[in-house]
Amino acid sequence: MPSKKIPIAILGATGAVGQRMIQLLAGHPWFEIAALTGSDRTVGRPYGELVRWVLDDAPPPDVAKMIVQPSEQVADVAIALSALPTDAAKEIEPLWAASTAVCSNASTYRAAADVPLIIPEVNPGHLAMLDRQRAERGWKGCLITNPNCASIGIVMALKPLHDAFGVTTLHAATLQAVSGAGYPGVASLDILDNIIPNIANGGEESKIETEPLKLLGQVADGRVQEAKIGISAQVTRVPVIDGHTALLSIGLARKASVEEAIAALEGFEAPEQVRGLPSAPERTIVVRREADRPQPRRDRDAGRGMSAVVGRVRPCNLLDLRLVVLSHNTIRGAAGGALLNAELLVSTGVVA
Ligand code: NAP
Repeated sequence: MPSKKIPIAILGATGAVGQRMIQLLAGHPWFEIAALTGSDRTVGRPYGELVRWVLDDAPPPDVAKMIVQPSEQVADVAIALSALPTDAAKEIEPLWAASTAVCSNASTYRAAADVPLIIPEVNPGHLAMLDRQRAERGWKGCLITNPNCASIGIVMALKPLHDAFGVTTLHAATLQAVSGAGYPGVASLDILDNIIPNIANGGEESKIETEPLKLLGQVADGRVQEAKIGISAQVTRVPVIDGHTALLSIGLARKASVEEAIAALEGFEAPEQVRGLPSAPERTIVVRREADRPQPRRDRDAGRGMSAVVGRVRPCNLLDLRLVVLSHNTIRGAAGGALLNAELLVSTGVVA
């Protein structure tokens, strides 16, 4: 635990994810918010006057008083949590990474060869890439990313199965919540009484087909050797506010019974450096044995929104196993994921 609170900036603080970051940082034992940034639309005005708060309650009063700063103006902070849009992140995140540890939600640098894509419970060892990143980019800070909000729950469920039995193939079909599109997101006349196939013109499917390979890969010489898993994904947007569901069919190198698979999922423990971090859930994976769980409204807040909830673990008629996994897209899949990454940077000494 740091001896005094570490100053932190939130880039893109007025958006849906930025607001979640503010909510999760209220009363945080290690971090205090020192700077908030936005676009030209909001810069120079008190946060509380301009933000269209989409969460429950209201912004904390001390945050509401803070003046929104330009995102390009690097503040004197140890850590920046970025909730910038993909295009804005391209120029702005490297500006900050020159002096600050940036934990980004944006997809811009997730696939970059020198940028770690991190889920602390899954691949904390990928932080070993940072020495080479700093040397090659000349940064005193660093840039790490968290995965796409649908990939993260999928990979949390795959990790114990991959460790125990070796995942070879995956078919994933998702039912993704509307908050994943930010605010105002999808028009109500498009999503009410409806399901929309395809998100981001195929971009979401390609993230689910590639990010797990990096996350489950091995690091050598500052680069990731990707896991060899064949993945096919189909995505849909559904009229749920929060909580992405994924229906998985999984092929395994070593056959496993349902009970063996459940034992691997229930027995999974986060690596030692992750256990006890302020935002780490007590149980990375919660297994539900009821036939009709997980459900977004009932299960998305498991582990304060940071656990992946798995159910319907059954044999698959085509591959080896099938299951349903649910994760909270704006907490575990975005703001909470970036915050846990920031805590990992502190616990591993990357940020002193
Ligand atoms: P959002 O609601 O549209 O918020 C975008 C934020 O970025 C706002 O604070 C906005 O400030 C700021 N911004 C916009 N254009 C800018 C520019 N040119 N320069 C500087 N700042 C700018 O988006 P979001 O849903 O919070 O998503 C933020 C990021 O997280 C995106 O990259 C998204 O893909 C990613 N992500 C989202 C989710 C999710 O569940 N929503 C999950 C995972 C990852 P103003 O308000 O001042 O315009």
